Amino acid sequence: MGHGYRVKCTNCEYNYGFWVGLGMTHSPERGFYGDQEPYQKWTIDFPDKIDHWYTPSVLGLVSSNKIARQVYKLMTQGYIPSRVYGLAEYVCPHCNLLYHRFYFRLSDQTENPKKKKYTPKYECPRCRSILKPIKFHEHEGILTVLYLNNKNAKWECPKCGNPHLMYDKSKGEILWD
Ligand SMILES: [Zn+2]
Ligand SMILES: [Zn+2]
Repeated sequence: MGHGYRVKCTNCEYNYGFWVGLGMTHSPERGFYGDQEPYQKWTIDFPDKIDHWYTPSVLGLVSSNKIARQVYKLMTQGYIPSRVYGLAEYVCPHCNLLYHRFYFRLSDQTENPKKKKYTPKYECPRCRSILKPIKFHEHEGILTVLYLNNKNAKWECPKCGNPHLMYDKSKGEILWD
């Protein structure tokens, strides 16, 4: 189950509606292996068929052909998705626009001693900077934007430069699946 919520600048009208979490259509099987038959792992069994509609939904969720092809290639090589995945909050570190994108990690399960990891690099549609995953810390109604390592992202409103956000509860929370 996923949910939607909205944040807004405490000073101007800038706001962003996030969709986060997971829908039912994004089970691990369907999300990363494709779901033609329960016993088939599409990625593994049909490594040359990236464009088929049975292919894993992660390929559509990354909203970039370049990332989709890279993910597909790594999956065919035996990379395994992390247990934590789903739509999540991101920010552009250059222009401060907020986005939601599909967060996941793949790790190399082969005999490779280096144990490489892969995380998708999403580009800001406006300035092409690489988006960074974030989370919010709320204190007395004011939200601070933190990177996942808890470092302050020093966010400023892309419209007015104000550093403060708050939850916009006027529209309520939306559940989706
Ligand atoms: Zn503002
Ligand atoms: Zn940007």
